Amino acid sequence: MELQFDTSVQFVKGIGPKLGDFLRSRGIERVQDLLEYYPRAYEDRRAVCHIQSLVPDQLVSLKAHIHKVRSMPMGKSNRRIWEVVVADSTGRIACKYFRMPYKGYFERFEPFQEVRVIGKVTHYRGTMEFHHPDIHPTAQDEVNENSLVPIYAAIEGLTSSKISRLLKTLLTQSIPETLPAWIREKYALLSLDPALKQIHQPPVELGDQFLSFSSPAQRRVIFDEFFTLELHLALKKAGLEKERSTPIAARGLWSEALKNNLTFRLTQAQLRAFQEITLDLQKPHPMHRLVQGDVGSGKTLVALMAAAFAAEGGVQTALMVPTELLADQHFHNAEKYLRPLGIGVGLLTSQTKSKERATLLGDLGAGRVQLLIGTHALIQDDVEFHNLGLVVIDEQHRFGVEQRNRLKCKGLSPHFLVMTATPIPRTLAMTVYGDLDVSVIDEMPLGRQPIVTRKTFQSKRNLIASFVTAQLKKGRQAYFVYPLIEESETLELKNALEEFEQVTKEFAGFKVGLLHGRMKAAEKDDVMGRFRAGEIQILVSTTVIEVGVDVPNATLMVIEHAERFGLSQLHQLRGRVGRGEHKSFCILVLGYALSDEATQRAEIMERTSDGFKIAEADLEMRGPGEFLGTRQSGLPGFKMANLVRDVRILQEARAAAFALIERDPTLSQAEHSELQVRLEQVMKTWVG
Ligand code: ADP
Ligand code: MG
Repeated sequence: MELQFDTSVQFVKGIGPKLGDFLRSRGIERVQDLLEYYPRAYEDRRAVCHIQSLVPDQLVSLKAHIHKVRSMPMGKSNRRIWEVVVADSTGRIACKYFRMPYKGYFERFEPFQEVRVIGKVTHYRGTMEFHHPDIHPTAQDEVNENSLVPIYAAIEGLTSSKISRLLKTLLTQSIPETLPAWIREKYALLSLDPALKQIHQPPVELGDQFLSFSSPAQRRVIFDEFFTLELHLALKKAGLEKERSTPIAARGLWSEALKNNLTFRLTQAQLRAFQEITLDLQKPHPMHRLVQGDVGSGKTLVALMAAAFAAEGGVQTALMVPTELLADQHFHNAEKYLRPLGIGVGLLTSQTKSKERATLLGDLGAGRVQLLIGTHALIQDDVEFHNLGLVVIDEQHRFGVEQRNRLKCKGLSPHFLVMTATPIPRTLAMTVYGDLDVSVIDEMPLGRQPIVTRKTFQSKRNLIASFVTAQLKKGRQAYFVYPLIEESETLELKNALEEFEQVTKEFAGFKVGLLHGRMKAAEKDDVMGRFRAGEIQILVSTTVIEVGVDVPNATLMVIEHAERFGLSQLHQLRGRVGRGEHKSFCILVLGYALSDEATQRAEIMERTSDGFKIAEADLEMRGPGEFLGTRQSGLPGFKMANLVRDVRILQEARAAAFALIERDPTLSQAEHSELQVRLEQVMKTWVG
């Protein structure tokens, strides 16, 4: 019998109304959801393993007996570490738990009870141990020797083995195919029926392939996940190409004038990006372009030139940025470069006074303001443009899809330009920005010197201070940045003040300023203004300066507690220096509670300043979910696919999806109807 993906789980053999309700409440509603509840790992029972011969990082399934169970206090907090020591004939090993899996977990065990321990071996201070392994009694295990046992994430009381049994019944039926034959043939893909069956009941002879996610069955399912996403992107892109908008009729005289007024020359990469933009702006359908360029590569100017081009063509531009600091700075630049050309520039943030705001909105509605720069304040309902033709979003990863769309809606199919300084590895860019055209600014302005980066420790405070002092005496300026230790307003303020006091004491004779997120906009402006003017030599700051801030005379970036920052944040912070003619330095001050990853991050920072390399490393260390923040990016949560591990499959799936849309732009052919259904389902669970 052939199963139907759409059938409610309640009708699966072994699932009654009660279990059915429970599963539904956990998002497993249809047969398909259950089929796609993939094992989170496989337990390898092909070889017997012994405690004595365990090696670090090995994922093992071990038969042993309980030696003892105990708990002890964890540092000064009132939390406890639990320890279950297990033994076999060759030795003992501790299983440590830093939180209790569930109440009563440890009370289950009795001395000498035979258990199976499944987990990854960790090497810690010279001994092997497990952290948070699964431990369960062996009683019903024995039939499963020499096999690969799927392990499912338990759904509360519903254990892995129960889930396994439900699937076993379900999988006696045959599973219909979803991909058209020509795609399966072209990419040598296994049919869905054997693929799903093997994933839930892996053949022991393919054990190694399954453990490394390289079996044909897994490849097929991973392909499907990527394929649906890429199909969505291909359709979206095809749709955009059909959307109409009025071409911007400009000759580029204004942007040319802007260029000629500069005291420096644009890089080839900037010129290329600008040219790609102007070609788009003159087309009868809206531009949809991403400018990707490392910190300091000069994206702002490209955007301002685009705004000049749009203004010459008689349409307005909106430039939205994530912070007030950045809005101020862009406004400052726009005044400098666009005002002389007779282009009206406005600034709108939540700090804009209501009288000014009213005047500004009046000018905007009348078309007297041709470039409006601002924060989220731009998307408020009463902000109405005369004819918004170009929307630019800076540091676009800081905004949600909806915010971007709301700004777009203020015009009639306006051209759309997004900029990001978080270099995104190509593979990710392909999925996240799959429907965008991309311009890459892969060249730094002339004369930039590489920033020397060194990690050091808090204990070297004196050395750091004398190094900084020497720089200050040469007339340079410095940032001291420290992390938000807790997201609490009072604490942030306390930390800011403490750090400020310490730095002021350490550098008596120099003027120190303080900048943090809790300050009023006017105070921030004042401090930034004085730092820019050189009146303040050291700026103590939280990460509010992370994006955009541009003071070329600042050549020192001291990052306190660098271990608390992620790679991309460190890279962004470092990008605040090295912006002028002088040699710049970044000092990563590490605390003592160091994890391996923190050290690794600091070393990567020392090794390279190439944002793309850093992003690749970051992605590899953190995985795509955390790298992007799934919610923010509109990226679907994949059930099996992994953007780092499965890049090759992603590329194939993308090619296949775009080829299919070329053949059948509306997915109306019969052999594609199942795909249409899938696509609609995925879209429901998805923000992008
Ligand atoms: P980002 O790409 O990080 O947004 P910015 O646009 O803030 O970079 O530019 C960084 C600094 O480099 C600014 O001071 C800007 O005026 C300057 N700049 C931009 N392009 C050039 C160039 N071609 N030559 C020299 N300096 C430039
Ligand atoms: Mg920028």
